[in-house]
Amino acid sequence: IGLSEKLNFQTETQKILHIVAESLYTEKEVFIRELISNSSDAMEKVRHAQLTKPELIEEGSIPFEIKISTDDDKKTLIIQDSGIGMTKEEMIKNLGNIGYSGSSEFLKKLGESQDKSSIIGQFGVGFYSCFMFTPNLLPLVQRVIFGESDGSGSYTISEADNVSRGTKIIIHLKPNSYEYSKKSTVENIIKKYSSFVGFPILLNGTAVNTIRPLWTLNKNAITEEDHKQFFQYLSKSYDTPSYHIHFSTDTPLSIRSIFYVPSQHMEKYGMGKMEPGVSLFSRKVLIQQKAKGILPDWLRFIRGVVDSEDIPLNVSREHLQDNGLIQRISSVLVKRILKNLSEEAKKDPAKYNNFIKEFGGFFKEGIITDFKWKDDISKLLRFETSDKADEICSLEEYVSRMKPNQDHIFFVSVPNRTVGQLSPYYEPFKLKGIEVLFLYNQVDEFVLSQLGYFGDKKIVSVESKEAEEFLLSNQEKKDQTLSQADIDKFLSWVQEVAGEKVSTAKATTREISSPAIVIDHESATFRRMYKMLEPGKA
Ligand code: ADP
Ligand code: MG
Repeated sequence: IGLSEKLNFQTETQKILHIVAESLYTEKEVFIRELISNSSDAMEKVRHAQLTKPELIEEGSIPFEIKISTDDDKKTLIIQDSGIGMTKEEMIKNLGNIGYSGSSEFLKKLGESQDKSSIIGQFGVGFYSCFMFTPNLLPLVQRVIFGESDGSGSYTISEADNVSRGTKIIIHLKPNSYEYSKKSTVENIIKKYSSFVGFPILLNGTAVNTIRPLWTLNKNAITEEDHKQFFQYLSKSYDTPSYHIHFSTDTPLSIRSIFYVPSQHMEKYGMGKMEPGVSLFSRKVLIQQKAKGILPDWLRFIRGVVDSEDIPLNVSREHLQDNGLIQRISSVLVKRILKNLSEEAKKDPAKYNNFIKEFGGFFKEGIITDFKWKDDISKLLRFETSDKADEICSLEEYVSRMKPNQDHIFFVSVPNRTVGQLSPYYEPFKLKGIEVLFLYNQVDEFVLSQLGYFGDKKIVSVESKEAEEFLLSNQEKKDQTLSQADIDKFLSWVQEVAGEKVSTAKATTREISSPAIVIDHESATFRRMYKMLEPGKA
C-alpha cells in the first residue's frame, strides 16, 4: 500500500452515506460497537485461517486483542486489532461500496457444516456508522488497512506504524464528537454494547469485557455461582435469582437466551412500574438494552438476555416495536418461560409457592391484559381454599378434588379466612363438604371472571346464579315449615321494604343459618365496584 492515497467514494455512496447516517442508527454511539464487531470478525477470520490454511498465517503468536485508546488532548480514538486485515483492493471494495460486506462473502464461502454464528457482520453497512457525524463527516485516518475520510466524500488509506497483522483505525474527532476521546464515555459504550465480544477489548491497556456470555455456553458448564453473578450484573443488584431459564433453539428461529426470576420485586412497595429487563443481542452484540416487546409487559420482572442471529444489527428502536420477527421470538419465549415455571412448580412446590406469592400479581395482570396467554397463565396461579388453612393450591389440584356432582369451580371473595369461614354464602357449600376458593385480593375476582373457565369448568362465585342452581339441584327434599300464605305475605313485605334495591324476593330451601341473603349476577365485590362508579357515591 502506498502511503496516504486519496480515494473517492462513489457518488451513490456519498448520497447513501447520509441516509445511512441519519436513519439506520438511532444512537450515534453505535459506531464504536460497529468497529469492535468488525475487529472481532477480522480476528475470527484469522482463527478460521489457522485451521484451514495455516501456511498463510505468520509464525509466532500475535495475541487476539482489540486495543482501543483514547486521547483527550489530541481528540483521537484509535481502534486496533490483530485480525485478518485488508489488502488495498479489499479496502476499496469494502469501504467504497456501501452494502458490500466482505464478511458475508466470507460466510458464503464457508461450508454448510461450519458454525457461522461467530461472525457478526453481514450487511456491509456497519463501517458507515462512523460517518454519522454529519454534515461534517467524521475524518478517519487509517493506517495500514483503513482510510481517512475528510468529509468531502474521499478517504485515505495509508500504511500504519507498529502493526504486524491487522487493522488500525485512527479517528480524528470533529468538535461535535469530542466526547468520544474521553475514556469514561468510551468505556461505558464498550460495556453497554460489546461486553460479550469473544476477544479481549483493552481500553488504554485495561480489559473491559470480562464477563462471559453465559447464554452461549453449554448448560453443564455453568455453575449456580456463575448464574448468580451474571444475574447481578444484568440486574445491577445483590439479589439472588430464584429461578433461571436457559433456553436455546435453532428451529424455526435461532434463539439463545437466558432468563432470571429475581427473588423479590419493588413494585409492591409502590416504587412505580418496573422497566422491561431483557436485552436483545445478535451474535453477542447488544442491539437494544431492556427491549420493549421482546417479552410482554406482564413479564417485566424477568431479567435476561435474548440473542438471535436472525435479528439485523441495525434494527432500530422504532422498528423493533412492530417487527414480526420479534413477535414470533416473543411468542416462543413466553411459552417456554411459562412451561418452565410449571415444571419448577412440580419439582419444588414450596419454593414455587413462595415465588407465586411474590410475583402472582404480574400473572394476574397477564390474564387481564393478554388474552392470548390467559389459559397458560391460569395454570400458574395459586389460591387458598376453604379446606386448607395457610396452604395454596392450583386450579388443577382444586379440580382434581371436586365432588363427582360438582360442575363448577366455586370461589368466595372475602377479606380474610375468618370472614370466609363465617360467610353465609359459603355455608351451604361447607355443609355439603364442597371446597371453595377463598379470594383475599379484590383483583382476584376480576381475574377469575376474566378467565371464565379453567378447562371445561366454569369459574363462578358462591353468590352467583350458577351456585344457587347447583345448590338447589343437589339438595335433599325437605318439608316446608311455613305455609305458602305466610311465605307470600313475608315476601311481599320484603319487596315493599327493599323497594328498588331488589328485583325479586324469593323463598328458598337453601340450607343456611342466615335468615336472608342477596343473590346476584354479580358478586359483592362487583356490586361494590359498581357502587363506586355511581356519581356521588364514591
Ligand atoms: P459488515 O461488517 O456488515 O460486513 P462493514 O461495513 O462493517 O460491514 O464492513 C465492511 C467490510 O469491511 C467487512 O465485511 C470486512 O470485510 C471489512 N472490514 C471492516 N473492518 C475490518 C477490520 N477491522 N479488519 C478487516 N476487515 C475489515
Ligand atoms: Mg461490520
